[in-house]
Amino acid sequence: MRLSRYFLPVLKETPREAQIVSHRYMLQAGMIKQASAGIYSWLPLGFKVLRKIEDIVHEEQARAGHIAIQMPTIQSADLWRESGRYDAYGEEMLRIKDRGGREMLFTPTAEELVTDIFRAHVTSYKDLPLTLYQIQWKFRDEVRPRFGVMRGREFYMKDGYNFDLTKEDALHAYNRHLVSYLRTYERMGLQAIPMRADSGPIGGDDTHEFLVLADTGESEVFYDSEITDLKFGDREIDYDDQAACQAVLEEFTSRYARTDETHDQALFDAIPEDRKRTARGIEVGQIFYFGTKYSESMGALVDDGKGNKVPVHMGSHGIGVSRLLGAIIEASHDDKGIIWPEGVTPFHCGIVNLKTGDAEADAACEALYASLTALGLEPLYDDRDERAGAKFGTMDMIGLPWRITVGPRGLKNGVVELTSRRTGESEELPPEEAVAKIAKIYEGIA
Ligand code: ATP
Ligand code: MG
Repeated sequence: MRLSRYFLPVLKETPREAQIVSHRYMLQAGMIKQASAGIYSWLPLGFKVLRKIEDIVHEEQARAGHIAIQMPTIQSADLWRESGRYDAYGEEMLRIKDRGGREMLFTPTAEELVTDIFRAHVTSYKDLPLTLYQIQWKFRDEVRPRFGVMRGREFYMKDGYNFDLTKEDALHAYNRHLVSYLRTYERMGLQAIPMRADSGPIGGDDTHEFLVLADTGESEVFYDSEITDLKFGDREIDYDDQAACQAVLEEFTSRYARTDETHDQALFDAIPEDRKRTARGIEVGQIFYFGTKYSESMGALVDDGKGNKVPVHMGSHGIGVSRLLGAIIEASHDDKGIIWPEGVTPFHCGIVNLKTGDAEADAACEALYASLTALGLEPLYDDRDERAGAKFGTMDMIGLPWRITVGPRGLKNGVVELTSRRTGESEELPPEEAVAKIAKIYEGIA
């Protein structure tokens, strides 16, 4: 993409309404624009990152054997009456009437609708296990929408639902989700720690939240510092292997890590003093096992192969896709702007032309642009007729992890400059080597 032809409405001034850095930078970098309280338009740069995050979620869901569907945002209240949640959900639910006076609602989550799909089509244990998921806009009329996309009213969420014959199978699904979420967040450059949590209005017994540590997080968290040394990394795991998934769950949940809702001071006190940590965290996901709560109330029964009709065991699993943009920025920025991890960056690298209009510099930039593009990479080329300082300022704000700077002086010596946004370190090297280096960095990522 050439910056002169892109739509990147970077703000010069610091937006006053933003209380936390991710909100401020998302507005300043021209990623989002508020449409009304807690509701945002996604401008090109923001939309690109949202899609990258969404792609990672889809890929990791597929790897775990989960199947994508898409359910409507507007749902009939009748289904929610069957589960008893129409009244129970309270003011967070946006209720709507259609022209016939029928009560509808904008989905805050979708247990009822997915259970309705299931009961209409699945009748036998032979069709289990089954996990259906979607990535869809949700609406919750939050009392205090704030912090930009972190606590919106309209937000983008991955919600998945497992259907299993037995409790044991459903717990395997729970563990499988935990493993796949660890992978998902790590690919986004995030450490998200699973913490024992409270189940809230979804209901249920077993639940973990995934928290990203950040000073601006809304939850207070307590943990054993050993947990932050754990990495899922690139280990291969067979998601059908119950024992393997269980082992990962045990590894990642055996150390103390809880939010204030479930905090147990006595257990915390037992951690060696130098490993006790109190911090703040951003909830980026949650997994639940809730058994037969919905299948019983809504009659989602299957033939168990022994002549009985039994309610299926279920769980639901959510990832805050739009909130993740905020969480990633909170975890990865400096005073000049965002620093995108390679896995989610909107463009793989920036090209800054220090002297637009200079025939040699223009040609070198075009050649770099062509070679990167030919390798399947997406550069953002600042070809505007602007001061170098302004170009660097924009690149720093929008946070591309790598920048190639091209100027007549370097070109005389046959070199360009390759700079890491994260460390600020630069090296001079021939253009082909800069391209090769960037290609290598993104091997297995892009
Ligand atoms: P919270 O406690 O933050 O209100 P929740 O526990 O009610 O969230 P879940 O039902 O677990 O939310 O939804 C799954 C994920 O969706 C959450 O982990 C979070 O990342 C995201 N999410 C929930 N509410 C919002 C919101 N208002 N804005 C943006 N993302 C949200
Ligand atoms: Mg939650």
